[in-house]
Amino acid sequence: MKPIRKFTVRAVIPPQLAALEELAGNLRWSWHEPTRRLFQHIDPELWRTSERDPVAFLGEVDPARLDELAGDDGYVEWAERQRSDLRDYLAEPRWFQSLGAAAPRTVAYFSPEFGITAALPQYSGGLGILAGDHLKAASDLGVPLVGVGLFYKAGYFSQSISPDGWQQERYPVLDPDGLPLSVLRTPDGAPVQVTLALPDDRSLHARVWKAAVGRIPLLLLDTDIPANSDELRSVTDRLYGGGGEHRLLQELLLGIGGARAVRAWTELSGSPAPDVFHMNEGHAGFLGLERIATYIGEGLSFAAALQLVRAGTVFTTHTPVPAGIDRFDRALVERYLSGSLLPGVDPADALALGVEPGADPATSAFNMAVMGLRLAQHANGVSKLHGEVSRRMFGELWPGFDAEEVPITSITNGVHAPTWTDPALLAVAETRLGTGDTEHADWRSPALADAEFWTVKRAMRLQLVEDARRRLAAAWRDQHSGAEPPKWVSRVLDPDTLTVGFARRVPTYKRLTLMLADPERLTSILTNSERPVQFVIAGKSHPADDEGKRLIQQLVQFAQRPELRERIVFLPDYDMGMAELLYPGCDVWLNNPLRPLEACGTSGMKAAMNGALNLSILDGWWAEFAGDDYGWVIPSADAAGDAGERDALEAAALYDLLEHRVATRYYERDGDGVPVEWVRRVRETLAVLAPELGADRMVREYVERLYRPAAEHFAAVSAEGARGARELSAWSGRVHAAWPGVDVVHVESGGVEAPHVGDELRLRAYVELGELTPDDVTVEVVYGRSRADDTIDAVRRAALEVDPAAQVPAGQRLYTGAVVLDRAGAFGYTVRVVPRHPLLRSTAELGLVAVAD
Ligand SMILES: *Cc1c(COP(=O)(O)O)cnc(C)c1O
Repeated sequence: MKPIRKFTVRAVIPPQLAALEELAGNLRWSWHEPTRRLFQHIDPELWRTSERDPVAFLGEVDPARLDELAGDDGYVEWAERQRSDLRDYLAEPRWFQSLGAAAPRTVAYFSPEFGITAALPQYSGGLGILAGDHLKAASDLGVPLVGVGLFYKAGYFSQSISPDGWQQERYPVLDPDGLPLSVLRTPDGAPVQVTLALPDDRSLHARVWKAAVGRIPLLLLDTDIPANSDELRSVTDRLYGGGGEHRLLQELLLGIGGARAVRAWTELSGSPAPDVFHMNEGHAGFLGLERIATYIGEGLSFAAALQLVRAGTVFTTHTPVPAGIDRFDRALVERYLSGSLLPGVDPADALALGVEPGADPATSAFNMAVMGLRLAQHANGVSKLHGEVSRRMFGELWPGFDAEEVPITSITNGVHAPTWTDPALLAVAETRLGTGDTEHADWRSPALADAEFWTVKRAMRLQLVEDARRRLAAAWRDQHSGAEPPKWVSRVLDPDTLTVGFARRVPTYKRLTLMLADPERLTSILTNSERPVQFVIAGKSHPADDEGKRLIQQLVQFAQRPELRERIVFLPDYDMGMAELLYPGCDVWLNNPLRPLEACGTSGMKAAMNGALNLSILDGWWAEFAGDDYGWVIPSADAAGDAGERDALEAAALYDLLEHRVATRYYERDGDGVPVEWVRRVRETLAVLAPELGADRMVREYVERLYRPAAEHFAAVSAEGARGARELSAWSGRVHAAWPGVDVVHVESGGVEAPHVGDELRLRAYVELGELTPDDVTVEVVYGRSRADDTIDAVRRAALEVDPAAQVPAGQRLYTGAVVLDRAGAFGYTVRVVPRHPLLRSTAELGLVAVAD
């Protein structure tokens, strides 16, 4: 029988154990092992089957067991000790509190998805899990951040696989009352409601759920409330579910509704209003328009409001694939922006922000990433390589500038070590290395013997093997009307075999099936009698992506072959709960995207933190961290003629590495059966590489390199009634208007008849500034090594000085200066004029330049 309605009845906890409720109510338990141990002690088996979610767990625990523990002084005291540890954690000064006054007041972090724990399934993959790790590390570091997202009634989807290998999606509905969430309320108890005015006199309403992620509040907007029509109730039904209009409504809600929710939260909590707004990808871009509308309401022009918003906004781009970017039909966006959604904002001004560079403004799609970049003075990609790719991909927004000058930097992603490190590694760090901080433990220390380390790793592998068997048995019952699974299911995988993991979403560029390029070769590697290899594979395809589903099907069908099915398994329904056991259980993490399409990739980082070596294409994070001790590089066949040839070459390299380098090394054992050299590499990985991969390193970089400058710029432009923003916008308008009159007319040089190192190149540049004055511009020589393709490499710049007394033709000015030739070889230079203002952050910011021709 199917219930017509479902809800969760919360357990009554004996008053002696009130500490448990407080601990369950803050998601710090999702990364704090001591808290988890406290829950686990109540009923270890139920703890496992309730997927280590304290709220669900407390709802199911036998009340008699709770009564028993309520009378156990030792347990009560343990729980209270953990509670006071949590309270200290929430209140004590941490890293951020040592930064002093120049630090941001509050950072509002917007993301369409957040992966905090499997128990709160509000994520689809890497973007969301990164957002979750960002919040957790911000909490640990004491960064005053507030997260903003949507509450999706059915999350992403849950995946099962039909007997013929086809992905099936289910959308189990979540009950927010059974989750660690509370409704944001005003002091009189009324729920806070956020409202967006829609066309045709409709309104979209949302309530706001609040989760406590350690010190960080996370606000999630939810439209499933009676105030909405049925149609609008479903705006937050699923993550990335609908297309076009449905998606647009979600993003309007996230950006505009999210900014309004932050305002309500600020007032209720007494926290300072954010001075920094961070958009995790373009989806939340409308938040900038909402803020512009607010400033217009306070009397600013659109242009001045834009300067205010830009100064305090950080935009992070995550995809090097143009197809991965959100684009909306312009007419659709126009319809939504033309009503009273954003009072005071002229729709034409708003629409102009989303026009793609070079496109006809009347017909261009509305591009959310382009809008994000125009709304943010501070932008970054998520690895060094992705930074480079992004500077090229978005370079047209700053025409006339070389890619290196495009104002998009990079901060390499990180993963939250306390969340992603297996408890067994934590335990051995505590007992042998004297620290509960696995990220900074001395993993090379002889206090931990190789043999013991290897025993721990085997236990982690066994845990994965058992989990895989359980999952496959459950999937079998699910697909065969409850029938008992055949015997072989209980024999899949082996805890002493080299285990390779591959799990991720299944867009084509990640090449799930590259390993199948030569099925015979793979078969012989898997079934090698002396050096066998086993594969554990998982991943979801977007429901609308049949191509991805076909790839899954190919893989599942291959893994069904009777001679292989115990050596290669596809585990359905990849999520954080599976990931927690999968990374620790693997010896090798495989990653074979088409370079450079993997912006960063974080799964390999999580595997490294659990003592796995990486076997990966030189892409994303691996391109900057690969090292002999940390794994192997699969060479990219960049010179291949076509995609098929490239796949074949890269697959062949993968097989060779697996067979002749990885497996041979793995099975090279000492007298006690310990792979000494392998273990040495793993311990190097933990000791040296892992600390670089932490989300704490990432969040510190965000604070120091982006949040702090953003807060400073915002303070500078907002002071004295936004005087700076008004000046900057007026100046920028004047410079844009006058720029066609700017020209480098003529450049003379001297001192270079037979140049030698140490000589001086003297320059005289005749420049027209039209309506502008020398205060508005920098005239500079740009020089460096000249290359055969007529570009300049290793570029340097030096400003020239205006000579006010020079005799020059009417309308011109003379600029002079000199460059010392300090390097031998081909030299090239040019002279250019760029706008100059103390409130600009980069030379390229206005996208204006006049170069000598
Ligand atoms: C880490 C993680 C991802 C992202 O992995 P990538 O390597 O970035 O593709 C996706 N899903 C889950 C469940 C994860 O834990």
